[in-house]
Amino acid sequence: MLPSCRFGFIMRERARLFVRGMSRVLLEKLNYVGGSRVDVMSSEKFHVVEPATGNIMTTAGVSGAEDVENVVKSGVKGFQKWSRLSGPERGIVMHKAASLIQQRVDEIAELESRDCGKPMWENKGDILFAADTVGFYAGLAANLHGEHFQLAGGSFAYTRREPLGVCAGIGAWNYPFQTACWKMAPALACGNSMVYKPSPLAPLSSVVLGEILLEAGVPPGVFNVVQGNADTGKMLASHPSIAKVSFTGSVATGKKVMEVASGGVKPVTLELGGKSPLIVFEDADLSNAVSGALLGNYMAQGECCTNGTRVFVQKQVKKLFVEQAVERVKHLRVGNPLLNDTQLGAVISLQHRDKVVSYVDSARKEGAVVLCGGEIFTPPDSRLSGGFYVSPCVIDECTDNMKAVREEIFGPVMCILEFETEEEVISRANDTEFGLAAGVFTNNLQRAHRVIAGLQAGMCWVNNYNVQPPQIPFGGYKQSGFGRENGEVALSYYSQLKTVYVEMGDVDSPY
Ligand code: NAD
Repeated sequence: MLPSCRFGFIMRERARLFVRGMSRVLLEKLNYVGGSRVDVMSSEKFHVVEPATGNIMTTAGVSGAEDVENVVKSGVKGFQKWSRLSGPERGIVMHKAASLIQQRVDEIAELESRDCGKPMWENKGDILFAADTVGFYAGLAANLHGEHFQLAGGSFAYTRREPLGVCAGIGAWNYPFQTACWKMAPALACGNSMVYKPSPLAPLSSVVLGEILLEAGVPPGVFNVVQGNADTGKMLASHPSIAKVSFTGSVATGKKVMEVASGGVKPVTLELGGKSPLIVFEDADLSNAVSGALLGNYMAQGECCTNGTRVFVQKQVKKLFVEQAVERVKHLRVGNPLLNDTQLGAVISLQHRDKVVSYVDSARKEGAVVLCGGEIFTPPDSRLSGGFYVSPCVIDECTDNMKAVREEIFGPVMCILEFETEEEVISRANDTEFGLAAGVFTNNLQRAHRVIAGLQAGMCWVNNYNVQPPQIPFGGYKQSGFGRENGEVALSYYSQLKTVYVEMGDVDSPY
């Protein structure tokens, strides 16, 4: 982030350029308010850097108090229109939005790859998944309902599921478009409007989402985007007209958001970090277990909150597991996220690259054995020489108290730990402040469910990892947060219940 910048002609011209191959995506006026792109009023700016090259793609404004005020006002107006539509009417518009996202998948995926460094094929999957999520909530919008209670004397009560108002969404940089959709879709299905603040490290695709929603028929002001930093997020979360805050990011920031929201007694959903265990028993299909561990460590260059970065392998099969894992990891292709055969792209920033590598160094110093990767990598293509790449890493001989085993690295680093008994591994897996996800590989049915029941994690997988269809609820235990995204249950986090008692007889009053 830059405190305040002077930008010359070249920078302004550059900002006007369209992203290569994406004729409809403009890289300027990155606040989206009342159905239009607008400039930020504050003079403070930040660079939007392309992780693959280290080049500056454009600059954006850091929204200040006036910008936040305007965007929230727009959200209030949007709410007045949108909340008056029936659920089925909202559903029709949202179905159209899902279909428009599908139609523009290549273009959004390319924008996203340039903005956050993740390979194109992976982003295409994320964008299609985001479209599925919007379609899923479009269906639920048509079916929002309350309950009916038959009471004594013919009286009855019923509940109405009503929207909250203007909801704030605050997102991280690793799944920018998808995170915006995970928050927007249930919010809009319930009749709320949303002001979304993306991470300044990946701010571009949420503006495109705003344009798509408008094209689908969502009224102006129902989905707005405000760009900025921590202060912008704080102003948004504490704004008196914001009814709810849905936050995705680190534990440290989540605590601050919760504190600020408590001032207005606002409901909060927190999707925070993790250090998830992936447990491989000796009876597991080893090839599948290795595939699961790779999915759980190298998706999004390891920048995935659910990643199973503590891989516990039972003693009898550990040697074989490690051999197979290292053989496959050594052949992973790191490089240009825009190329089809790239498996890992660039990590988000120079600082983040150095942080990831420093965790590998710390593990080595504490006695672990680095079997491959964990180094700064420079792709042969000279255009990528300024990019932020880390070679995928496997660390063996890890122990529970090492820094790399306890803290979230958020990079392509798999830590392998050996265990002997089921009881032991459950206790070690739970020995963390986090509780986002967990995985178990075993062919013993009873053991699978027994172990899962003992694990303190909100999202668990048996014999797979990092699969997340929109129908199933997602969220953390312990310091990984609370509230749920996805699934029907998310509707309850974007709505409030009104209970109505209806008297069918006379009032029986003692007064
Ligand atoms: P971060 O906490 O630094 O920032 C997240 C967002 O919060 C950004 O938009 C940022 O500008 C904003 N922000 C920062 N300070 C704020 C404040 N005081 N008040 C309001 N908003 C503020 O996180 P990050 O580095 O962008 O993302 C990485 C983290 O996100 C990792 O810990 C990862 O595990 C977590 N994450 C969790 C999930 C999940 O679903 N559980 C998903 C993705 C990422």
